[in-house]
Amino acid sequence: MNGRNGVTQLFEELEVECGASVECITDRVSVLQGVDIEVELLGEGEWASIAPFVLVNGDRARILLRESDPRWYRLHVVVHQLAHLLCGHTQCAALPMSFEGSPDPTPADRLTHELLHRQEAEAEEISRRLSAFVLAADSAPSRALLV
Ligand SMILES: [Zn+2]
Repeated sequence: MNGRNGVTQLFEELEVECGASVECITDRVSVLQGVDIEVELLGEGEWASIAPFVLVNGDRARILLRESDPRWYRLHVVVHQLAHLLCGHTQCAALPMSFEGSPDPTPADRLTHELLHRQEAEAEEISRRLSAFVLAADSAPSRALLV
C-alpha cells in the first residue's frame, strides 16, 4: 500500500456511508478481505490469557474487547482493528488493547518491530476516518454489539 493514495483507495472500496453501524462496517470488511470477523467481550480471566499481536488466525479474525473497559474505548478498539483488517494486516502491535494501556511486549526481532510500526500508522489513518462515520451513527445495532 502506498501512503495516502492507498488509504484513500481502501476507504473508497469500503463504501461506507455516513451513519453506518459497526456491524455494517464489520460485514463489509469481512466480505472485502474474505475473513470471518468475530467481536468478543472478554472477562478478566480470559483477557489475561490473550496472545499478544495476533488478530487473524487462518481465515478467522477475532476482535477481543475487555468487558470492564468503557464503551467508547471498546468502540475505538473495534474500529482500529477493522482498519487493520481492511489493510490486510494479520497483527496489531497494540494487542491486547486495553483502556489501562497495553502491555509493551517487545517483538523478537527488529524487522517485526518495524513492520508492526508501519502497520500501526496505516491502521490509525484509516481508523480516524472510520471513526467519524461510526460515531456519527451510534445506532442501535452498534450499541447492542458493544454494551
Ligand atoms: Zn494496531
